[in-house]
Parts: sequence; C-alpha cells; structure tokens
Amino acid sequence: MDRRQIIVGAMGAAHRAHLQFNVDTTDRVDVFSVLRSTQADVFFRPMKSVCGAYVPSEGPLPAMLINSNMPLSRQRYTAAHELGHVYMQHRTVSLDREVGIIFEARTDLDEQEVAAEALAAFFLMPKPLVMKSIRDLHIQVNELNPADAYLLALKMGTSYLATVNQIHTLKLISWSRAEKLRSVPPKLIKQELNNTEGVGRHDIWVIDEHWNGQNIFPAPEDTVRIELHETPTSGYSWLWTEKPDGLTVLEDGYREDDEGIGGSRVREFVAQINSDAHPAVISLQRRREWESEAKASPEFKVGVFPQQLRNTGPLVPPRLN
Ligand SMILES: [Zn+2]
Repeated sequence: MDRRQIIVGAMGAAHRAHLQFNVDTTDRVDVFSVLRSTQADVFFRPMKSVCGAYVPSEGPLPAMLINSNMPLSRQRYTAAHELGHVYMQHRTVSLDREVGIIFEARTDLDEQEVAAEALAAFFLMPKPLVMKSIRDLHIQVNELNPADAYLLALKMGTSYLATVNQIHTLKLISWSRAEKLRSVPPKLIKQELNNTEGVGRHDIWVIDEHWNGQNIFPAPEDTVRIELHETPTSGYSWLWTEKPDGLTVLEDGYREDDEGIGGSRVREFVAQINSDAHPAVISLQRRREWESEAKASPEFKVGVFPQQLRNTGPLVPPRLN
C-alpha cells in the first residue's frame, strides 16, 4: 500500500471508531474514556525519551504505555495513536519516540506507524469538530495566526503542532501558512498571550465573549485569562455572579481596547486553576454596581472541567480478588 492509501484507510478506521464508541464528532473527544471501553491495559508513567508504547497480545487485551511527563495535549495524542494500534489490530510492538510531530514530512515511518498517526489525527480532530471550533471562536481560518491556532488547539485538546498539521491536511490552510505557523514555538505564543509573562509548561486559556456558553478543560496550574469588553461611560461593569471554587484570581484589572472602538476597554481577570479543582462554572454579568441583578446583561458563562494528570498508575485500577 502507498502512503495515501494507508492514510485513507486510517481515516475510515477513525470514522468507524467514532461510531462504535459513540463519539460526538462536534465536541472535544474524550480519548481516555474511549480507551477505558476498549479494555486494553493502559499504564501511565514518567519516561525520558518515548511518548508511548504498544504491546499486542495473543489474547484479547493489548497493553499500552503513556509518558505522563508530557503535557496533557501530547498525552491525549499519544493515547489516540496507541488506540490506533489497538483498533487496527496491529501485531507488532511499537515504541513511539515521537508522535504528533510533522508527520507528513516524516518518511522513516513504517506502514503501521503512518496508520496510527493518521488515525490519531482524525480521531481527535474530525472535520466537524475542527469546523465547529473555528466557527465558535470566530476565527478567519485562511488567515490563521499563531495565537488563534494555539487557542483552537486548546479548545480541541490537541497540541499546537498536531492542530496546525491537521488543519493543513484538511486543506483549510496552504502549505506555506502551515510552515509559517510551525516555525513559531508555542512557548512564544503563550508568553505573548500572557503579556510576556511565561507560564512554563502550563497552558494559558484566553477566553473572550466568543467562549460564552462553551466549556474549557484546563490542567492543574493552567492560567485562565478572561477578557471582556465594557464601555466605561455606561457605568456597566463585568462582575462575578459566582466565583468558582478551585480558581484563584490573581489579577482583576483593565487594559485599553486594542481596537479602540467607541471608547471601550477590556476587563481582564487572570486566574489559576488549583491542583484540587473540581468542575465549576465561570459566571459574570455586566451591570451597574449599585443596581440589582435584574437589570444586568445576560450572563457570560463558561464551564470549567479541570483535567487530572496521572503520574504513575493504570487508567483503570485492576480489580483485586
Ligand atoms: Zn506507534
């Protein structure tokens, strides 16, 4: 089989896997819950040089290993890659040093690895999800810039590089734009989004009006930056209707509106996800401080679903007899 045939085959397999595991292809894909239902033996542990590994078995239960040292988005991609090996019933051991890298450009992969990489991309980033995410965030995809690509990746729960690759595979951006985006390190994008302050290996979720009604899935210690427009002369200001537990507000201030339309400014709340955070809701309303909530604007609401990172241990604890 040539490379194209392998990729088309893996796309079909990803589609069948979505149907089989009842995956909503317009929403962020919960790959770990799919892995749970495959009954494969999945184990997490910190490792130095591999992303993951797949060990087929004679019996019905293959095993896989995921490097817990990697950021969540790369663990999810590795999980989808190993799911590819399981789902396509690959018969040989795979030691995966690099997954979700620029896979179109890599020619050293054997058939099995090309198929697993393609399945991972289409399983985590099916076209309906990519298109919906682009619409939700009001992104001009043909002019995709690094910050928007980064936020799109966060929304889908995938890494920056894997996202850029998939958007190019789906022919939504040209090769030259993809190359330009790939040349920008995510670290730099994060610094810019966080006013030159680094967040290390953690992510920075910049959520504005477009995120209203949506959910976010941050890892512990991720930064959430809420940016909402207001017009100072109106006397209306964004106020918390409910400050969620599990979120520590570090800053509450204003900055000039870059677009500077009609004397508006941007209200900024910067918060950090606590390590023991539970699902919660960010909820704000624009109102006058002295007026009742009845006169307030419709609420700005974003669901927060903190993701727990595992260090060492199985995905599903073994049953003790
Ligand atoms: Zn592999």
